Amino acid sequence: MSFDEPGEERFRPDDGCPLFSQALEDHLVAVSRGEAPNRGRFCGNCYTPIGPGTMECPHCGESTTAGRRPVNAVPEAVMETLRAQRKTESRWVTWMAYLGLLIAIVGGLAFVLAVPFLKGSLIWATVVYGLILLVGGRSLAGILGGYYGDRIGFERARANTRAAWERIVAERASTKA
Ligand SMILES: [Zn+2]
Repeated sequence: MSFDEPGEERFRPDDGCPLFSQALEDHLVAVSRGEAPNRGRFCGNCYTPIGPGTMECPHCGESTTAGRRPVNAVPEAVMETLRAQRKTESRWVTWMAYLGLLIAIVGGLAFVLAVPFLKGSLIWATVVYGLILLVGGRSLAGILGGYYGDRIGFERARANTRAAWERIVAERASTKA
């Protein structure tokens, strides 16, 4: 699960927080890269981009007439929430990948030192250690970072996103009154 591939579907938890729809995330990524302006028509509840004639948000089901009115820009707080979410996610991926590399370095060394034949041959020990680093380091970094880091990072980041969403909803309710 990578979130930098455009158009790739991410896991969408059904936890009561409508942030972020795929369309909104794609839009905000494009805005942050300067590829699109932060203008358009967005659901007044979850800020999913919607068409000019859309009557009901395809993501959260908010009615554009009976519910919250559509807005023409995504609020800064929502953009900031996505920024924070992705930062947390990528941090976990990176650190778990380093952990995988560290395991290969230490584990490879332990292996080479534990095999008597390798212990007696500097050349072979170097060759085997090099291969362990190359293959093991790469796969462990990929598994720990790309799989576990991705998952843990997403869970952590999602908890923050839920909290941010609650703040945004509370803020909206207070400014409306
Ligand atoms: Zn919506």
